[in-house]
Amino acid sequence: MSFRLILTGAPGAGKGTQATAVSQELGIPAISTGEIFRAEIAEKSDIGLEAQRYISEGNLVPDSVTNEIVRRRLAQADATNGFLLDGYPRTLEQIDALDQMLADKGEQIDAMIEISIADEEVSHRLLKRAEIEGRADDTPDVIAHRVAVYHEATEPIVGAYRNRNKLITVDGMGTIEEVRARIVSAVKDHLGLK
Ligand code: ADP
Repeated sequence: MSFRLILTGAPGAGKGTQATAVSQELGIPAISTGEIFRAEIAEKSDIGLEAQRYISEGNLVPDSVTNEIVRRRLAQADATNGFLLDGYPRTLEQIDALDQMLADKGEQIDAMIEISIADEEVSHRLLKRAEIEGRADDTPDVIAHRVAVYHEATEPIVGAYRNRNKLITVDGMGTIEEVRARIVSAVKDHLGLK
């Protein structure tokens, strides 16, 4: 059984944490565009330098750059039998690019999982994370902007998968373990595995 999944949710919804937990349980790699960008920034690569300008202000990195890093990552051997995309696609153009990358191999996305949490909880969690991890884009102003960008740019993406009957919405409140169990069970349910 292969799983080709997308995980989405507002900044702070717990995507990163859940991506790791769910990918381990399903035996597929978690691919986070945000993490790839942060690694490129740390290496001061050309992509990193370009991405940093956008990320530091809470804006999306241009589609051409983002699509290319995903294309390269999905071509790696560990992604042939499934993957969990964390933070991608976030624009309609990215959906088209992803559809095309998969169609070239006769594949498609099985489901998008949306972790749903309230905006107030989002800022609360991100400000707490800022204290612990010190991520440069976790300041109050940049957080507020990222949440606005999420509602504007990313919610239509959720709608696109809803229209394809591929959307699974999971309640993001509760412990990490509770949310992980909800996600895995909802995915299996959706794919008719239980
Ligand atoms: P969060 O979801 O908490 O904002 P991420 O680590 O997913 O954190 O993303 C951090 C930043 O990386 C985003 O604010 C954006 O600038 C950039 N980024 C990540 N994924 C994408 C994407 N699919 N398209 C464009 N930019 C992206």
